[in-house]
Amino acid sequence: MVRDLEAFKVWLGRRGAEVLATTNAYEVLRVRTSSGVHVVHKNRRGRQTWPSLLSEIVDLYLDGGSPRLSPTARTRRSSRLRQRYSVLITRDGEGCFFCGQPVPKPDEECHRDMAPSVEHLVAITHGGPNHLSNAYLAHSRCNNIAGDISAVEKIRLREKMRGWQ
Ligand SMILES: [Zn+2]
Repeated sequence: MVRDLEAFKVWLGRRGAEVLATTNAYEVLRVRTSSGVHVVHKNRRGRQTWPSLLSEIVDLYLDGGSPRLSPTARTRRSSRLRQRYSVLITRDGEGCFFCGQPVPKPDEECHRDMAPSVEHLVAITHGGPNHLSNAYLAHSRCNNIAGDISAVEKIRLREKMRGWQ
């Protein structure tokens, strides 16, 4: 979650993303970036839900990164992802945290569903640290399926996806 949403919107615009008009009262933010349209929702109590692909962009924002987010720009895998990939693959092997199938290398041509992404076991939006101890390699698709659920629910999802239960 971002404390100053307006400042985040300005940063998104500067990075080439299109901040769109929200379409109902439960939308906090709607933005089109190089990785698609992301919508942040809030419930009646004001609790926000941030999609995981947008959380990755928030990571870059908080780290002072300057990614190209223009929807028309060719998506470039960040050097940070490449760096993390090599550390994580050495630590955990090439399997996806969720499904266990190999995750393609950052520079490898692959379907966008299978593209490598860094999964935060305790979501950044839930106060999880942006540190390798909280990071796992996952397919973009599997990362998206997990979304913003709790760490305990992620472990359950992983067991299900691997057929352990
Ligand atoms: Zn997977």
